[in-house]
Formats: sequence, structure tokens, C-alpha cells
Amino acid sequence: MNDFVQERISDAEALDLLRNMPTAELMGRADAIRRARHGNKTYYVHSHNLNPTNLCVVKCKLCSFWRPENAKDAYITTLEDARVRLEKAQNWNLTDLHIVGGMIPELDIAYYERLFSLAREMLPGVLLQGMTAVEIHWIAGNAGISVRECLERLHACGFGSISGGGAEIFHPDVRKKIATTKILAQQWLDVHRTAHELGIPTNATMLFGHIEKDGHLVDHLARLRALQDETGGFLAAIPLPFQANGRALGVRYTPTGDRQVRVAALTRIYLDNFPHVRMLVNYMDRKLLGVLTHSGVDDIGGTSLDERIAKAGGAPQSQKFFAAEEMEEFLRNHGHRPVLTNSVYGQVQGQPDVAALPPSSVVSTRWKPILDRVEAGGRLDAGDATILLEEAPFQELGRVAALRRQEAVPGELATYVFDKNLNTTNVCVTDCKFCAFYAKPESKRAYTLTPEQVVEKVKRAAEKGATQILIQGGLNPDLKLDYYEQCLSGIRDNVDIWIHSMSPTEIEFLAQEEGISIKECLVRLKNAGLQSLPGGGAEILVDDIRRRISPKKTRSQAWLDLMEDAHSIGLKTTATMVYGFGETAAQRIEHLVKIRELQDRTGGFTAFIPWSFSPNKTDLDCPRLQNGVDYLRMIAIARLVLDNVPHLQAGWVTEGPDVAQLALQFGADDYGGVLMTEEVVSATGLDYGVNEAQVVNMIREAGYVPAQRTTQYDIIRVHGAEWAEA
Ligand code: SF4
Repeated sequence: MNDFVQERISDAEALDLLRNMPTAELMGRADAIRRARHGNKTYYVHSHNLNPTNLCVVKCKLCSFWRPENAKDAYITTLEDARVRLEKAQNWNLTDLHIVGGMIPELDIAYYERLFSLAREMLPGVLLQGMTAVEIHWIAGNAGISVRECLERLHACGFGSISGGGAEIFHPDVRKKIATTKILAQQWLDVHRTAHELGIPTNATMLFGHIEKDGHLVDHLARLRALQDETGGFLAAIPLPFQANGRALGVRYTPTGDRQVRVAALTRIYLDNFPHVRMLVNYMDRKLLGVLTHSGVDDIGGTSLDERIAKAGGAPQSQKFFAAEEMEEFLRNHGHRPVLTNSVYGQVQGQPDVAALPPSSVVSTRWKPILDRVEAGGRLDAGDATILLEEAPFQELGRVAALRRQEAVPGELATYVFDKNLNTTNVCVTDCKFCAFYAKPESKRAYTLTPEQVVEKVKRAAEKGATQILIQGGLNPDLKLDYYEQCLSGIRDNVDIWIHSMSPTEIEFLAQEEGISIKECLVRLKNAGLQSLPGGGAEILVDDIRRRISPKKTRSQAWLDLMEDAHSIGLKTTATMVYGFGETAAQRIEHLVKIRELQDRTGGFTAFIPWSFSPNKTDLDCPRLQNGVDYLRMIAIARLVLDNVPHLQAGWVTEGPDVAQLALQFGADDYGGVLMTEEVVSATGLDYGVNEAQVVNMIREAGYVPAQRTTQYDIIRVHGAEWAEA
């Protein structure tokens, strides 16, 4: 470990940071400490979980793992069962075996002595991390021996370190409500003190996002910091987001991305005497985890072979890692140097010596004067914008973008629209390589709605509260201009909803098919009821890229010219961007500058919406999967370059609800649509989903007042406190 000395902050400062510091700034401060301590090294373990039983005499209110004795899925692992499972694990090159579970009289000190001895014999060199302070205190009490004797006996059988579980929240006001039958805070701390005195390192958790208040979190961290000052035996602090299932403790939502980032960053900033901060992928979306590794977190836990506790808590399996290689690739994708270690950060066979690893590369500083100029109100030119996009810390871009957001859309409101996406047809003759949605005319998957079906679906959406309909579809030669005129006029004449529909690509295709000009086509669609255009089909407005990803599709200038025509006849539009096709930073900036230049002329763009390319199920390889940090960087630079486009929309469809929420701290002022249905992105396998209540909760938890808007950003209603519990 290097000789970095971290500044100590007071409890009052900690509370102020947690409550008031802008999220991007808090992330940047914590990331600076993490880099001073570990550079870009990020730790992970290859672990197998052995949960001896899900029966438990303690029956905590917040636990979704324990089962009553008569439950079909209740189980106890005999030593023979354990032998069979350990045999299977012998070829898995594990670094860790985690043994944690329920407490029952049958599983006494003798059982655990034999279990650890068996594991040590069958998995030599694997760290046996086990049990929580709650289990150790219970087993010692059950055996009528001291915690010290209990630890000494287990240690003699191979027990290597205590996992940090069971800490929950120490403050009695909270603990008496969430862990009524669990040991008291001081008893938990005493078990760890004893372990430290015996040379057994431990970790410490903090369960947040249930009924605790900010002060309870700071109090919890303060007690950990005080014990660490005394013993120095803790290795990692592990903030654990509570997995809400609407039942336990009546908590409706798992802590949102913004809250998780703020708590993790504060943990790093406050615990100046803890070497590591760990967050576990089991409990969150991978895109969020990636952002957390740039917000103070230097350890992402481990693979989840046979992990049952988070699973019981409802943690989706899709986000777990099951192979060390997967974790390595994930970390490299986030610019980190992956370090496979064990839960006491020991040297693992076949891995480079961590201490000998060269320091991370020197970071550029030429971005700073550029960002200072922007912060002072200057307009960014393409060259400077490219340097910021490539070299500036994304947290710093976010900090200034959040200030620019307040200039463009002042105030505490953050908006969303209640809309529906509707695709008329998936038949398309353009074969874009990045598209997983389209079908060839002869394909069994092909479908086309009749105008009557379109109107019926829109009617039902309006009945459910949709105020905007976004109709788009493939370029289907069988659908002529009159088909769309029937759809639009049918909606206009029968449904009270705003028609924000059709992409420039579809309109260009229709005009060509009809043999008429773009403008005439736009005028006919407007006369049929079209009220505004979504900015679909823009991808990257650089033809070198377009020729590669969609050779048959609208060229950049044609897309811009069509939008100019639309603006000229009073049709407002949005503008989009899909990035991650291997374009350069300069080409991304070229896209933004082209939109800015058109906006300078027409003022017709109401909003800008960037999202990342999802390569799954498409014909296009992805040079590098875009992650949550890439997205927040893109949102921030968009806000800084597009100084004449008022609204910036976050994109939960591709980035997930949590990272989209963080975009509200990086310059976005809008959370996008509730959407009801979406087929194009979900065709790639991404299946994020939110409902209106979740959108309102996300905006509120980001510190903004949720407001439902129209397509033109007029406010329909502001959700005051009455919505909090809806
Ligand atoms: S992106 Fe649009 S134009 Fe391209 S293939 Fe898909 S549906 Fe057709």
C-alpha cells in the first residue's frame, strides 16, 4: 500500500457532504482518494458461496433468505453434502470460499470446526471467509464459550477472516426496528475487535436504503472509524443497498443509483483509515457498478457461484458474474487494471505482485483551462470539446454541465412524459447493421399494422394516461404516404394525444416512393395530423460512419436538411445520437456541432437524446461496449456543446433507470418517457422497464421535483409530497 495520507473529515462535514454536495462533485472527490490509494487497480475475488442453512432462529424482519422449518425449500447442509459441493469446486481456481448462513442449534461450534477443516483440506490455498459477527456471537453463546475461544477454535481449523455481514445500521433507533432479534451494535463491534486482536482481518458492511436517516449512516461510519483507529483490523467497508421487495420494513424501492453513488462516495471520503471500499455486483445493475468504481469503490466483490442470499433478496441473476474472466473484462472496459485477489487482499497464485505493479499512467491537465472557460460561460469549439470529451475527468464535466443545466432550465423541476412508442411495421428494406428490430418482407417475424389497429392501440394508450404517441417503423415499400395520412388523421380525429412521430429516414423514403419533395411530404403529413418529429435515424451524423453501419440509410446532410425543412413549416423536432460504433471523439463532437449549427439557424430542436449502441442480436460488432461512465461523459459534453438546445433527455431504455437518474446530475433535465411499450432497443435483449411511480421516485431521489410535461415541455402537473407514498 502506498504512503498516501487521507484527510480526516468531521461528522458534521460528512453530513453536509451527504446532504448537499452535488453528486458529480462528490464522485470526483471520492475517486481522487481512491486513485491516490490504488491508482486504477480494482480488486475482485473468484468466490464460491456455501450457505449451510436457510433455517434461522433469529428471523430478522429485513431478511428474505431465512425459511420456516416447514417450507419446501428449507434446507440444512450436512458435512457430506458439503464434501460433495467442495469436491465440485476443487477445479474452479477459487480464491475464496464464503461460508455464511442461518443460525440453528444443530449447526454448532463442532459442526463449523469440522466444516472449516474439511474445506481447508479440500481447497488448499483458498481463503475461508466465513460467518458474520452475529453467527459467531450466537455459536459461542450456544456453546457456552467466549467469542475469543470460539474464534480461536475456528481459526485453528482454517477460518481466515470474518465477512462484514450483520452490521446493518448500528444506531439503536434504527436497529431496534430492523434487527430486533439481532445482537446489539456494541456486541458486533466487540466480535470484530476480538478478531482483530487475534490477527483475524475482517470487513464491515452498512445496510442502507431502508428506514435510516443520513445521520444514522454517519453514526455507523463513525463507530467503524473509531474501532479501526483502535485495531486497524478492518480491510474493506461494504455499503450494501437494501433490496426492497415492498414487504420487508414497508420499503418500496431499492436505493436509487444517485443514493448508492452518494453513500459509496461518502464511505470512501469519511473512512480515511480503511484501505478498501467494496460494492457487490449482486445488488445492482452492472452499468451502475461501473460508475461506482469511479466514485470511490476499488473492489467489486466476486463471482457468485451458488450465491443464495442476494438471490433470495430478489437480485436479478442477469447481473451476476459467474467467471473471473467476465469480471476482468468488465474492469478493463472501465479503464481499470483488474487485480484478482482474495477477501484479505492477499497475493493469489499466478497473479502479478500488486505492490510491484507500475503506477497508473499520468493524466492530462490540458482540459482544465478549457473547462474553466466553459464554466465562465464561453462557447466550446470542436477542438476544445474533443479534448474535454477525451481527457477531462467525467465527474468534472458533470459538475460544470449541472451548472449549465441550471442556466438552460433553471429551477428544481425535472420532467418526464407519459408516452407510448408504437411501431407500424418491422418490415424494412434498409438492413442497417446496428438494427435488431427489422424483418425482411418474407420473414415470419414480419408484421404491419392496419391504420385501424394503429388508431385502436393509440386510443388504449391515451386511456391509460399517455399524452404523446411516438409512431415509427421500418421502411416498408408496401406502405405509401396515404397509409400514414390515414393513421395520422385517424388518431387526430379520434384521440386526444400529441402526435410526435416518424423519423427523417421514413419521411425521406416516403417522398422518394411518392416522387415528391421532402417539404411537400412534410406538409401532407402535417396536414394529416403530425405535430412534431422525434429525431430518430441520426445515429452518428458523419458519413464515414454511416456508410459502414447503415450504407442504405439517409446521409448526414439529408437528415439535417429534412429537419431544417420541418422547422421551416413549424414542426418542432428533437435530435438524437447513438454512439459506440467505433467513431472517434472528434466524430461525436462533429455530430453535436452540426446540430448546434442548425439550431443556431432554426431554433427548432426542443431536446437532445443520446444513447449507447447495444450490439446484441445485430450484424455489427462492437469495438468496445459503452458503459455507464461513457454515457455520463456523453450527457455532460452534450450539455456543454449544445448551449442552444434547452432540454437534455436521459435514456433509461439503454442505460437502465439508475444511470439515467445519474444523468440528471450530469446536465440532463428530463427523464424521458414512461414509454409503456418499446420494441427497437428491447429487440437487442435489453429489458429495462419503469412505470410512472418509479420515474417519479427516481427524479425525487435525485433531489428534483418530478413534473409531468407535454411533448413541447409545458408542465402538466408537478408531483408534490402527496406522491411520495403513492
Ligand atoms: S434502423 Fe430503421 S431503417 Fe434501419 S433497418 Fe432498422 S428499421 Fe430499417
